[in-house]
Amino acid sequence: CGIVASVSNRNIVPLLVQGLQRLEYRGYDSCGVAVHRMVSGSPISQGLERTRSTARVAQLLAQVQTEDFQGLTGIAHTRWATHGAPAVANAHPHFSYGPGLDAGSGVPARVALVHNGIIENYEELRRQLQAKGYVFTSQTDTEVIGHLVDSLYNGDLFEAVKAARTELRGAYAIAVLHKDEPHRVVGARAGSPLVLGVGRDENEFFLASDPMAIAGVTDQIVYLEEGDLVDLQPGRYWLADKTGHVLLPEQRPVKTVQ
Ligand code: GLU
Repeated sequence: CGIVASVSNRNIVPLLVQGLQRLEYRGYDSCGVAVHRMVSGSPISQGLERTRSTARVAQLLAQVQTEDFQGLTGIAHTRWATHGAPAVANAHPHFSYGPGLDAGSGVPARVALVHNGIIENYEELRRQLQAKGYVFTSQTDTEVIGHLVDSLYNGDLFEAVKAARTELRGAYAIAVLHKDEPHRVVGARAGSPLVLGVGRDENEFFLASDPMAIAGVTDQIVYLEEGDLVDLQPGRYWLADKTGHVLLPEQRPVKTVQ
């Protein structure tokens, strides 16, 4: 349903949750946020962590405050269930811990992901990923994407998402984090809307399913086109078209939204 994501030099959690609040009018059944967790203001990532709720975004806000949930890089989602009942286990962000591993294994999560849309070939992908040992803990179509990205990851999240895209059928907008790249968000758009927001501070960038989500922080928007890939890091962003070719800034100009 709704996506907000960011890389920044400041704690981004309040802006992610505010972004979800701005998308609440669209309706949703659950919500969640994942970050590269930082503790006591230290920019060093303590690993990927998430908090999710089947209540209102106000409840998620209370959870992030109680848990002192902070990070410079994060993704957030409001879900409108298509596959799998509204439940915390089905709420996004979804995690992949790697083959043979799940939340109970005591290892850090490797991939975190939010998704809008529907993956049509998820049953086939789930069988293939289960054969490789991936453990599924939700009923969603979305969960295959995180495991697929993990299975294709070779030190570069952008390349892994690019490769994953060739195996995904259906409609999606996604935003993905990897534990080894604490200052990076990679996104892709195919059949579901996604925009890039250029923050007022040049080190801060956003992804959102709707410019409305980030209207409080920036009016500088790049509209992604069908098939585009996007790579956000502090101080720079990178766009590629559906063939993987890097796009020049003038091919996806920054527009000021009213
Ligand atoms: N198909 C996904 C799910 O059911 C995403 C739904 C959405 O766009 O919110 O979890």
